[in-house]
Amino acid sequence: MKFVLASQNKGKLAEMQSILGELGVEVVLQSDLGLHVEVEETGTTFAENSMLKAKAVMEASGLPAIADDSGLCVDWLNGAPGVYSARYGGVETDEERYQLLLNNLRGATNRAAHFHTDIVCCFPNGDVLQAAGDCFGTIAYAPRGEGGFGYDPIFFVPELRKTFSQLTAEEKNAVSHRGNALRDFAIKLKDYLKEN
Ligand code: IMP
Repeated sequence: MKFVLASQNKGKLAEMQSILGELGVEVVLQSDLGLHVEVEETGTTFAENSMLKAKAVMEASGLPAIADDSGLCVDWLNGAPGVYSARYGGVETDEERYQLLLNNLRGATNRAAHFHTDIVCCFPNGDVLQAAGDCFGTIAYAPRGEGGFGYDPIFFVPELRKTFSQLTAEEKNAVSHRGNALRDFAIKLKDYLKEN
């Protein structure tokens, strides 16, 4: 069965293909089908945004469509930046965003945070599969490491004693919110495909 990923991100496609390929499914980018559906992420939850994207791409392609939405939720900031992680503070770069977050945590007595991912898959017959994953950690006092993107340099994983930026892609994938959500989705999709 062919699935469309409601994203332009080749990295996400490779991650998804490596996990879902084992189920005998093929995942393509919407651009591979000549589609360029732009969906405004107007939802107030990760699940709502994933649903908006998956539904729009399913309707445009006539194929089952998978979308994900992720973000960083910081306890001291009542869950911010959350669904607004990509546009936190209205500043331009990843570095400006995580520096702003560090500033907003000055004097904080709790630095607990987690990344969250919701995945939604919409089928043309109206069926919907939903999966989710988290990765719990803390916000470091200063950025550390070179790799990754977004808030990776300041997200510290206590069990590994490293920030996301200090992990290899494989190490990050084994513990990350997106990795966990993808593994949850693979289990649910496997069950669904068995029954349908
Ligand atoms: P998206 O929904 O995967 O596009 O993620 C939205 C935003 O959340 C990104 O632009 C990043 O700011 C942040 N984010 C999501 N996942 C990660 C991650 O694994 N590391 C760092 N930042 C992330």
